[in-house]
Amino acid sequence: MPERIVLLGTGTCQLQTHRMASSVMVELDDLRLIYDLGRGVTLRLVELGLRQADVEHIVLSHFHPDHLSDLVAFLQAGAWSQIDPRQHDLHIYGPIGLEVQLMRILGLFGPDVLVREHYRIHLHEVRGDSLTVGGHELGFVDLPPADNRGLKLTRHGHTYAFTGDSHYHEQEVEFLRDVDLAVIDAGHLSDEEILELAARTQVPRMVCSHLYRELDEEELTERASRMGYSGRLIVGEDLMTFEL
Ligand SMILES: [Zn+2]
Repeated sequence: MPERIVLLGTGTCQLQTHRMASSVMVELDDLRLIYDLGRGVTLRLVELGLRQADVEHIVLSHFHPDHLSDLVAFLQAGAWSQIDPRQHDLHIYGPIGLEVQLMRILGLFGPDVLVREHYRIHLHEVRGDSLTVGGHELGFVDLPPADNRGLKLTRHGHTYAFTGDSHYHEQEVEFLRDVDLAVIDAGHLSDEEILELAARTQVPRMVCSHLYRELDEEELTERASRMGYSGRLIVGEDLMTFEL
């Protein structure tokens, strides 16, 4: 299996069939992790032929519904599906507050609705700026607003970064320095901020995701290159894939 990044959802809270809400999947030889699980993303997993047993690690950037609402659908399906019932434990990682928020979600519908007794859900509340998932150490960096954490991974000498939600600020510029491929929240940025972020960080491939509006890839890249950006701006689409 090639190691790859797959955009599972490049949209937002806006209800669109071509853009599910926020999610990125990373597949390594020995690890598959899903960063955020917004509206509709579970159906992208089904489109990819993935089953409950294929999903062991979910990392949440923060606790807004457009980043986690399909957790409810995913957990209920695991508990009660007759075609793909869950048999194995699930690990969920997230910022401080994870335990309180997840206990609320799990408790919302009463016992046994989202989890069954023959497997467990392990909650990993991350206090520092890194976390270990399946033996891999990842950066988990505070990017305001909304107590949001960006995720960073280094593999084969290349660095990959995902911002979840973010605005244009110095923490984001710092976060994206020396990154080879970034999937950014472009929906909360103006065109000018996207261009400035590209020019200042020089990320070779900057993928615009979390899109509230459609972007013109060629025009943006052209404008960015006039500002001295030598990389490529890519407008993300659901199920777009990047090999590592
Ligand atoms: Zn969001």
